[in-house]
Amino acid sequence: MTASHAVHARSLADPQGFWAEQAKRIDWETPFGQVLDNSCPPFTRWFVGGRTNLCHNALDRHQAARAAQPALVWISTETDEQRTYTYAELYDEVNRMAAILQGLGVQKGDRVLIYMPMIPQATFAMLACARIGAIHSVVFGGFASVSLAARIDDAQPRVIVSADAGSRAGKVVPYKPLLDEAIRLSQHKPEKVLLVDRKLADMPRTEGRDEDYAAWRERVAGAQVPCVWLESSEPSYVLYTSGTTGKPKGVQRDTGGYAVALATSMAYIFCGKAGDTMFTASDIGWVVGHSYIVYGPLLAGMTTVMYEGTPIRPDGGILWRIVEQYKVNLMFSAPTAIRVLKKQDPSWLTRYDLSSLRLLFLAGEPLDEPTARWIQEGIGKPVVDNYWQTESGWPIIAIQRGIEALPPKLGSPGVPAYGYDLRIVDENTGKECAPGQKGVVAIDGPLPPGCMSTVWGDDDRFVRTYWSAVPNRLCYSTFDWGVRDEDGYVFILGRTDDVINVAGHRLGTREIEESLSSHPGVAEVAVVGVQDALKGQVAMGFCIARDAARTATPADRLALEGELMKTVEQQLGAVARPARVFFVNVLPKTRSGKLLRRAIQAVAEGRDPGDLTTIEDPTALEQLQSALKG
Ligand code: AMP
Repeated sequence: MTASHAVHARSLADPQGFWAEQAKRIDWETPFGQVLDNSCPPFTRWFVGGRTNLCHNALDRHQAARAAQPALVWISTETDEQRTYTYAELYDEVNRMAAILQGLGVQKGDRVLIYMPMIPQATFAMLACARIGAIHSVVFGGFASVSLAARIDDAQPRVIVSADAGSRAGKVVPYKPLLDEAIRLSQHKPEKVLLVDRKLADMPRTEGRDEDYAAWRERVAGAQVPCVWLESSEPSYVLYTSGTTGKPKGVQRDTGGYAVALATSMAYIFCGKAGDTMFTASDIGWVVGHSYIVYGPLLAGMTTVMYEGTPIRPDGGILWRIVEQYKVNLMFSAPTAIRVLKKQDPSWLTRYDLSSLRLLFLAGEPLDEPTARWIQEGIGKPVVDNYWQTESGWPIIAIQRGIEALPPKLGSPGVPAYGYDLRIVDENTGKECAPGQKGVVAIDGPLPPGCMSTVWGDDDRFVRTYWSAVPNRLCYSTFDWGVRDEDGYVFILGRTDDVINVAGHRLGTREIEESLSSHPGVAEVAVVGVQDALKGQVAMGFCIARDAARTATPADRLALEGELMKTVEQQLGAVARPARVFFVNVLPKTRSGKLLRRAIQAVAEGRDPGDLTTIEDPTALEQLQSALKG
């Protein structure tokens, strides 16, 4: 048995002992009485009775030894700015932000929605919420008003923190008009909106509601806000993610379990230690940003690099220049970013001093073998693929190099991480699959610390969605297909549901369909994910127009396609815009009226659609084919 298998086996045989040891990695104001309460599965409580605070663990406890060490390095190639905050400075900023939020009426348990570009104030706001026991809900800045409104209505924030604008590839993206429109659309209205003015775009303000961050920041200079200690299971945040319905799910995270899980992953998976520098090129709007830009590195006393910009601006060497300049030890990115770099001059990989860099972690989407090989050879560093989800909060499958550097197998993220009783199960029987046999990647409960505790405000949906998908077995479904080999390595083979993964961003085809359907020209629509060499997958729409005259000529079709793209962009954001929208007269459906999405996807990818005995109108597929040919 290898060391990682031994640790894994121990974590499952004796979860109480294993996690009690890991819990020593963080400070507890009140020690927990019970490590695990699994008396009401699938609801799990870790470290019951223990009281702690994420902000205390990320900042306060490091003040004695690391006040002068950089905690947060912020780099923007969009506005050409760089700024380093030491642990003492970050502590001061977070205390000020905490005082501001309290001044705006935020109390323990209140939600604060953060709709921000990648600027330091976004990190201050997250940590400030944690400090005062408020629950943050960060919404990715690439989402537009309808997506944002749905999240406002679900989370019901007392305060929203936002900014005038972000910037993407040199283009200013105003946030405030989208936010105002979202608040207009939502039923729930926040009491206050706190605004950071970057002076990138005009920012109309609503009297009595909108507050200026800079003015408040001066007013609360020197504020010291005591941490509000939370019972371990009290929520730290809600992060929305796409599912198979149009309504996004609020993934609710606890406090103590999350802190312990992240601190443990920093050691066992990321090999990070206090004083190291970690550069996670993600966005705080995604789970990778929550766990490995903000909380993970700071819990471990590391320096975290927050980057506003793209991997190829001003040139294809920017990521490596950052590594050289800030002596980055650990880097975390996504396969799409690497595929983007592959299109650049390969000499960018060798122009900078990368001697500080120990490991490159990649996650969020499947890592194809050529990309893995290209980057590994190009920078001469081990590449660590890791598989996880918004729901888990930290890696489920990885080579856990902090335990042992098991040899990686290209195409596999590795072996199940400690704490996860991972099974590949048959979708029809719930029985475990033999090695080499494809099944659903599932986890037998209890889920380890740090994983979602429930769906925000909807326990029933948590059980219904995640724990009822596999028959004859109470297990958590990841909704991914997978296969395990004889050595225990797991290979991920794509989603079992209608969720797609575009450039590492998870999107629900249902949400995009709802947006397209809202256009008056559309009678029916199907959206599927189609393989793409750069982004992994892209969304493709197939529409039946209400009025055939609108799609009579190629020019008509192009015009309607353009309108539809714009609709999605305005409602959901550019991130959800389909790559193409095609028009047909009929969509492939079963005789009972169910859309045959897999068949549509197969045709769009040029594959054989397989068994179609249930199809109502076989000509539907031919129509798809000719629409694709244009
Ligand atoms: P998200 O919740 O947005 O992080 O998306 C999670 C989904 O992304 C998973 O359910 C997988 O479908 C996919 N995913 C994440 N990491 C990997 C990986 N390393 N390999 C393959 N698929 C991945």
